[in-house]
Amino acid sequence: MSGDWIHNVAAQYRAATGNRPPVPTMTRPQPTAPLIQSPFSRELHNLSRTPLVLEDQALLDEALEALPLERLYSEAEQAAENDESWGMQDHLIRALLKWFREDFFTWVNEPACTNCSGETAAIGGTAPTPQERGDGAGRVELYECKVCKTLVRFPRYGHPRKLLTFRKGRCGEWAMCFTLLCRSLGSRARWVWCAEDHVWTEVYSETQKRWIHADSCETAWDQPRLYEQGWGKKMSYAIGFSAEGATDVSRRYIRTEARQLPRNRIPESELVLNLRVITQERRLHFSANQKAVLESEDHAEERELQSYAGTAAPASTAELRPRETGAGEWTEARGESGRR
Ligand SMILES: [Zn+2]
Repeated sequence: MSGDWIHNVAAQYRAATGNRPPVPTMTRPQPTAPLIQSPFSRELHNLSRTPLVLEDQALLDEALEALPLERLYSEAEQAAENDESWGMQDHLIRALLKWFREDFFTWVNEPACTNCSGETAAIGGTAPTPQERGDGAGRVELYECKVCKTLVRFPRYGHPRKLLTFRKGRCGEWAMCFTLLCRSLGSRARWVWCAEDHVWTEVYSETQKRWIHADSCETAWDQPRLYEQGWGKKMSYAIGFSAEGATDVSRRYIRTEARQLPRNRIPESELVLNLRVITQERRLHFSANQKAVLESEDHAEERELQSYAGTAAPASTAELRPRETGAGEWTEARGESGRR
């Protein structure tokens, strides 16, 4: 299959739908001075810049070329015939979720030995080489082969461009790369950060007019109670970041008091203020019309999140499952095995 063919499909699709979200004029804003200089507010402002790296047209085009578009569109079309509750674009992202986990990305607990393919054991970490650092690795994990004692490096890459070819890691790498691919297909997508060591994606459904939970590690679509009900995970904060702003989406994922960890990292009023400042900054260069549309969506989302308070609607069967990625011991240690 030639690259031209892919480009044509992508270009035709973009021309036909015209729904690629607006890319802000200023894709790399100057660092925001946190309004309140608490460590957590600084962390929020830093986190908020993470998904901005995805708003790069050349990177989005590279990502599109990595996709089997014919297969994804064909699967989405078939699914759309059987289920009209979701739009074509939603079915496309669902097909992407499936392909991403089955054929594209690999979960790595301990990397295999590069010499004999034997099992390795973690022995600590080391600084990245200039090359690894250039590719966005902030740190490198070190493993030793249990058989031949070879040292194996496992760089934790943060830059989505490198991840398009490296294609392995844990939830951080998965969520970053998957969010990029959602954007490349023209969906609006958020990178969701959970304070308890997990990240995932949210995609806006133009059909259902709401943000949809999408976890690439678990092939999960619209299963927000998966973490608290399936994994038994306790959480404090879940914040969605994108080029359109920052939103506290905790109430979508933490609906049971027993799963709610104390939210004591910052006063609630300061959290709201910080997220508002980030959102205003992201939208600074948007047109008045775009801003009005987004604000109306914000209000609708706030009503949705409020509606979850005090409701104990049962989780769906799909949500009642333990964590699928990660070795048994690893999920057990994190309290995500579904055992309570
Ligand atoms: Zn070995």
